[in-house]
Amino acid sequence: MADEDGDTIFGKIIRGDIKGPPFLHEDDKCIALKDIHPQAPIHFLVISKQEIKTIDSINETQKELLGHMMWVATKVAKDQGATNGYRIVVNDGSDGGQHVFHLHFHVLAGRKMSWPPG
Ligand code: 5GP
Repeated sequence: MADEDGDTIFGKIIRGDIKGPPFLHEDDKCIALKDIHPQAPIHFLVISKQEIKTIDSINETQKELLGHMMWVATKVAKDQGATNGYRIVVNDGSDGGQHVFHLHFHVLAGRKMSWPPG
């Protein structure tokens, strides 16, 4: 979901327009915060600070951001106590099941994941 200007709930959270629980991580490129509707005992999101709608729209000059966000995902997963593995998911576009059109990774842990995903 996004306004006509492309702003989403994640843009508002990052700018501090909406107050919520403290971020699990913040740096100049991304934040991590707990998902409001957790699908596992540990479920947090790594969200880019740049307003990028989809991973598919990433261009070559932005590609290092993806590696950085993946690295943050692994760091925060450890901090959150994901000692037995975890799953990192990007829902992209309509068929990918994306709802918030602002680049983010889901990190899920604390239960056994099934495959294939639904
Ligand atoms: P998507 O379907 O776009 O991959 O995932 C969006 C995720 O954002 C969902 O898991 C949803 O629960 C989460 N979410 C939506 N609004 C909020 C919010 O205001 N705060 C937080 N922490 N998570 C949100």
